Amino acid sequence: MKIAVLAGDGIGPEIMAEALKVLDALRRDGLKAETESALVGGAAYDAHGHPLPEATLRLAQAADAVLFGSVGSPKYDSLPREHRPEKAILGLRKECDFFANLRPATVFPELADASTLRAEVVAGLDIMIIRELTGDIYFGEPRSVTGEKGQRVGVNTMHYTEAQISRIMHVAFRTARQRAVGRPGKLCSIDKMNVLETMQLWRDIAVEIAPEYPDVALSHMLVDNAAMQLIRNPKQFDVMVAGNMFGDILSDEASMLTGSIGMLPSASLDANGKGLYEPIHGSAPDISGKGIANPLAQILSLGMMLRYTFNLPDWADRVDGAVKKTLAQGWRTGDIAKLGEKVCSTSEMGAAVVGNL
Ligand code: NAD
Repeated sequence: MKIAVLAGDGIGPEIMAEALKVLDALRRDGLKAETESALVGGAAYDAHGHPLPEATLRLAQAADAVLFGSVGSPKYDSLPREHRPEKAILGLRKECDFFANLRPATVFPELADASTLRAEVVAGLDIMIIRELTGDIYFGEPRSVTGEKGQRVGVNTMHYTEAQISRIMHVAFRTARQRAVGRPGKLCSIDKMNVLETMQLWRDIAVEIAPEYPDVALSHMLVDNAAMQLIRNPKQFDVMVAGNMFGDILSDEASMLTGSIGMLPSASLDANGKGLYEPIHGSAPDISGKGIANPLAQILSLGMMLRYTFNLPDWADRVDGAVKKTLAQGWRTGDIAKLGEKVCSTSEMGAAVVGNL
């Protein structure tokens, strides 16, 4: 297994160091993985004049998976857009055709009162939102604003091909299957087929593919109802799949059910299961360099990599289990500590996870 390690800027290198400690511990136990690191984002711009240098892109393309930290800093905000650190992540997604975004929303029981919802609504929540990243109204043509002031018309086009819908559905069915150990898989497909033809096609294709996955129960929900149900009773869901726009909105809604940005990993996959794994948060310039960032989203991103690219559920369970145990023992970085609770550093949290593997 070849892993490209792109730590990036701000807290990226600090939290990546902890994920690599976890990976080293797994390697000592026999996991066969090679890593190679490269600069990305602002750090790459400073060294090479570009946020995604050719050598970094080649490394990512040659690897089986990319472990990504975070990029960005106010220092680069006045650069032309194509040189800003955030361009690196968009470039990697495009060049590697990472079309499927997987975002878990998991609430560890110990952190249930960090959510804005009542603890009993979210305690034990464990859902996965899968968002299509390359199609839909964000890319469809025609798109324009035309006409004179007073009579202007804005147009965007919802557009999906059968191939695009089909490949994201297969990712969703496979994910539902991978998560369902010892129980049937559950997939809820989100659409708006009551008013949109494109979404009727979305639903038809979901139904056509379902017989290939007899161990996964497929259901459908209109997006407006899904937005409501995610707040009312989020634990009814397991895996949800949605197009680019609906998935954009629902995945942010779902991640915030958990109330802790420093805890959430994500994956962006291509058609062969190769993926880029990263925390959902950014480079947190306000706390970088202080050794206080929460490394758990980065460590859980490594766990997702083992599960979804390398198909090693036992090793992934070990990582997730070690994080759970660490939280149960009371280890807390500042972002997840309650008033009066003892706060640990980034490296103490990483060491505790390694100790619990
Ligand atoms: P942010 O996610 O970096 O930070 C938001 C808040 O959450 C901050 O108060 C920060 O201290 C806190 N936080 C984030 N991660 C944390 C962690 N692991 N532990 C403890 N606290 C944590 O968002 P922002 O401040 O809006 O953006 C900062 C920079 O990051 C910007 O340049 C932005 O463009 C970039 N960004 C990058 C990515 C990415 O690399 N994929 C994603 C989002 C934002």
